[in-house]
Amino acid sequence: MRSLTSWMKQARSLIAPSQPECLFCGRRGRPSPEWPGICVHCQSGIPWIRVPRCQICGRHVGCPDCSRSHGPLPIRCNRSAVAYTSDMREILGQYKYRGNERLAPLLGLMLDRAYELLQQEQSNQQLNGAQQGVFFNKPFPVFQSKLRVRVGSNLWQADLLVPVPVSAVRLSERGFNQAERLADVVSLRRGVPQLPLLVRTHHTAKQSFKSRSERLADMKYAFAGNTDSAVLQSLNEHLHSRASHQLEQRPLRIIIVDDIYTTGSTIRACAGALQQLCRSLDCTAEIYSLTWARS
Ligand SMILES: [Zn+2]
Ligand SMILES: [Zn+2]
Repeated sequence: MRSLTSWMKQARSLIAPSQPECLFCGRRGRPSPEWPGICVHCQSGIPWIRVPRCQICGRHVGCPDCSRSHGPLPIRCNRSAVAYTSDMREILGQYKYRGNERLAPLLGLMLDRAYELLQQEQSNQQLNGAQQGVFFNKPFPVFQSKLRVRVGSNLWQADLLVPVPVSAVRLSERGFNQAERLADVVSLRRGVPQLPLLVRTHHTAKQSFKSRSERLADMKYAFAGNTDSAVLQSLNEHLHSRASHQLEQRPLRIIIVDDIYTTGSTIRACAGALQQLCRSLDCTAEIYSLTWARS
C-alpha cells in the first residue's frame, strides 16, 4: 500500500504540475518567464551591471586598475553582464569546473544582454558624434544624454566575435571551451560571426592563485594569432565582404569573449595578439571585450 506522503505528492502534482529544477538553486520554484531554466527567486537575485562605474573595464565599483601605469588598455572597453558575487562564483564554478554544460545557453543569453547594452552605448556615442559634427562645434552634454537610439535605426554592430582560447590540456579536462559556448549564443542572436582568431601559445597554471603582477607577466605571451589556413581564409573573406559593402573605411570591430574579467591580463594579452594579427593583414582593428562576470 502506498504511503500517505506519496499519495499526497501525486495529488499535488495533479493540481499543480511539478516545476523543473532551477539551474541556479536546484529547487523547483516558479520558473522565470524571462530567463530560461531558472526560478523567479534566482532571477531577482542576479547582480546585473546596468551602469558601469568604470567606463573602461565596465566595473560596477570604483576601479583602481584602469588608472595604474600599465599603459593604455589595448581595448576600447570591456562590458560584463554581472558582478562576480559569491553566488555568481558558484554558478561559474558549476559551469566551468564541474562541467555543467546545461548552463551555457542561459549564461550566453545573459552575456547577450551585455552585448545589447554595449550596442546601445556605442550607438549613442555614434549618434552624438554625428550630431556634434553637423550641429555643434562644442559638446553639448545635456542634449547628448537625452539622445537615445531607436530600435532599427543605425545600430552599432560588431564585426567579429573571438572567444578566448583554452589550452589543449584544459580543453581535454573540460571537454569544451566555456567562452566559445557563450559566444555561440551571442553570435546566433546578433548575426555576428565568430572566428577562432587566437590560439594559446603555452599552458598557463591556474590564474586564481596568482598576484596581479604575476598574472600580467604570465599572460603576456600566452596568446598568438591563429595561423590555421582555414581560419585565415575565413577572415580574408570577411574582410573582402566588408570592402564590397564599403565598410573598410572604419576599423574592424572585434569583440573578445570570455567568462570573467578579473585583472584584465587575459583580455590585454588577447587584444595585443589580435592587433598584431590585424596589422599583419593590413587592417585596422578596434577591440572590445565582453565577459559574463566582472570581479
Ligand atoms: Zn532558483
Ligand atoms: Zn576600470
